[in-house]
Parts: sequence; structure tokens; C-alpha cells
Amino acid sequence: MTRSRSRTRPTEPRVDAAAARAFGRKLRAWYRRNARDLPWRRTRDAYEILVSELMLQQTQVSRVVTRYGEFLERFPTLADVGRARPARVMAAWEGLGYYARARNLHKLARQVTAGGQSPDAELPADPVELRALPGIGAYTAGAVASFAYERRAALVDTNVARVLKRVFAPTVNIKTTSGARMVWHIAESILPRTGRATWTHNQALMELGALVCTARVAHCGRCPVRSVCRSAKPGDRVAP
Ligand code: SF4
Repeated sequence: MTRSRSRTRPTEPRVDAAAARAFGRKLRAWYRRNARDLPWRRTRDAYEILVSELMLQQTQVSRVVTRYGEFLERFPTLADVGRARPARVMAAWEGLGYYARARNLHKLARQVTAGGQSPDAELPADPVELRALPGIGAYTAGAVASFAYERRAALVDTNVARVLKRVFAPTVNIKTTSGARMVWHIAESILPRTGRATWTHNQALMELGALVCTARVAHCGRCPVRSVCRSAKPGDRVAP
């Protein structure tokens, strides 16, 4: 007897639709009242969003705020990066570390703008097309699609994975491949209906992970989603 294919797949945690809706409502309402005013949240320019996302991958927000503005002053458009010598892009990245990000940005800019010769060329809006570009992984593709183009696209970084695990799937090990896949599945299944609401939803998820449900401490006592969270405890607690 042959086994059915579905039996060999990891079991995906079921997300209760009502809990997901309540989570989304509370999360977005909290974000509207508590969001930090960060420069990349004031733009829908795909290139500017991409620069911010690449910088934020390994660098603290406070440091990125300054360097982001400086980088955009030197390279106002993607074509400006595509036209520049690699050494100039590296110099503008100086101090941020993880230079592979700058190298990939340069490669991507050259590819999309034909070495700066197509100044109007734009980054694609489709996450699948974005992922085909140098240095763009699943998270960054979702971030550019959602934050620049207001696409209804999911995104999962370490902050988001931690929040979704704690709220919906406390027993899932997000460090395994199957656990990471489950968290992506949860992220996709709880997206709001519109791209515009998804923009707020995704920003809010990341903000909650950065300010309330942090890696070190879960501030459950002041968490806006504690009534629907499966890991909620009274007060704050050092995260396990
Ligand atoms: S209730 Fe606690 S564990 Fe749940 S999301 Fe909020 S801070 Fe994190």
C-alpha cells in the first residue's frame, strides 16, 4: 500500500479564523497609536524601501536611520547605484558591515537599470520576480512588495517568526525547516484582505516584535494581542 502524499508533509498548525481576525484588528489598532516614525515608513519608493530593508537586515534601527539618509543623498535612484563604480557603493556602505549586501545591491541595480542606462527602470512588484534578483530572499521580496507596492504579500523575519510562533503555534520549532515553513504558512493565512491593510499589518507585526514581544522579554502585560495569544502570561517575563 502506498502512502498518501499529505501524510508525509509536516502538520501545519491550524489558525482559527476568528482569532486571526481579532489578532489583526488589535495589532493594527495598536500600531496606529504606537508606531515609531521611521523614514522608510514615509515612502512608497521601491528603491528606498529596498535600501532600508538591506540595511536593517544586520544593523540596528538607530544606526540605519542616519546611514539610510546619507546613502540616499549619495545615490538618489537605483540607476545612480547601477551607474556607480563598485568601490563608491562600498564606500557609502562603510561602517555598516556585511558588505555582501552592498555588493548585491550594486549587482541588482546594474541588472535592473542596464548599468544605469535605463533610469526609469523599476523594481518588480511581484515577490516571485523580486526573488530572482541578486541578494533578495523571501523576506526582502515580501517587504518590497508589501511596503512599496502595497501588495498583499507575507513577510517573515526573525522578529515576525517569534511573534507568530508565540501567538499561534507555541510548540513549533522555528529553527527547523519545517517549523520555518509553518510560520510562513501562518503569516500568509492571517493576511488582511487588502494590500493597504497588509502594509499596516506587516509593519505592525515587525513593530510588535521589536518593542513588545522581544527576543529577550515578552512584555505580555502591555501587549495589545494578549487576549488571543497562546503564550500570554500575566506581566512581563524573560523569554524562554
Ligand atoms: S502576549 Fe506575550 S507572548 Fe504573546 S505576543 Fe504578546 S508579548 Fe508576545
